[in-house]
Amino acid sequence: MTQHDIPPVALVTGGSRGIGRAAVLRLARDGYDVAFCHTPSGAEAAAQLEKEVGELGRRARAHQADVTRPDDMRALVESVQEDLGPIDVLVTSAGIVRDNPLVLMTDQEWHDVIDTNLSGTYHICRAVVFAMMKRRRGCVVNIASVAGVHGHASQTNYSASKAGIIGFSKALAKEVGKYGIRVNVIAPGFIETDMTAALSGSARTDAVANIPLGRFGRPEEVADMVGYLASAEYVSGAVLQIDGGIVI
Ligand code: NDP
Repeated sequence: MTQHDIPPVALVTGGSRGIGRAAVLRLARDGYDVAFCHTPSGAEAAAQLEKEVGELGRRARAHQADVTRPDDMRALVESVQEDLGPIDVLVTSAGIVRDNPLVLMTDQEWHDVIDTNLSGTYHICRAVVFAMMKRRRGCVVNIASVAGVHGHASQTNYSASKAGIIGFSKALAKEVGKYGIRVNVIAPGFIETDMTAALSGSARTDAVANIPLGRFGRPEEVADMVGYLASAEYVSGAVLQIDGGIVI
């Protein structure tokens, strides 16, 4: 890149920790200036990540913004566009779990997961895609889960939210392909992050027993797929599983 080139810009939701954090670093290494959002609890991790991206020679901007709030997502996108420039790549990684068997699930657990994972994906895509259409270019990578493909017991809320992301993304890929925008999904299996840290004892042993590669994945391995999709100019509407060959 020469000094006259404008660096591409990526926006990552849920960038403060886990898979989103690894995606921020991967995109920065690939030459992107990167903005990301998090909740108030992620402020310290976000500040540390901004510093790490800066050390890679790229601009980073951490924003406290809640994906469940459409106004937050609109303000986030406006701020990133003014500050860093038009958004080339959007990665939606913000997500939560609230596991319970269906008969014990509370309405709150259901709505929290659907609002964050599925509606959160809608809110940020809604805020970003029109500007991409006007530029006739853009790339969206939505993080779903193998739970959205196969279903996981005690995760009806989570599985429904992730299956919803897959349907949403396929429909959007068909809608905006003619504007040069690619929309793809990554469906990870078990990845070593805070989200899976609570899995211990027999739950973890049983999970690993179902993974032919015999281990949980690393966030960086998912981020490699993000980097691939950001540059894969003829891939759209795909659901790429990264799960160690998991047998459900
Ligand atoms: P983590 O729990 O490690 O990180 C979640 C991230 O999402 C954090 O940055 C968190 O911010 C952010 N976040 C949560 N709620 C909101 C919100 N309302 N608004 C903005 N940001 C929010 O999760 P993972 O990295 O493990 O998961 C990332 C994605 O990958 C999720 O969508 C998850 O469902 C999916 N996934 C994960 C798998 C795994 O095994 N880990 C497997 C399959 C899919 P803060 O730091 O402020 O809390």
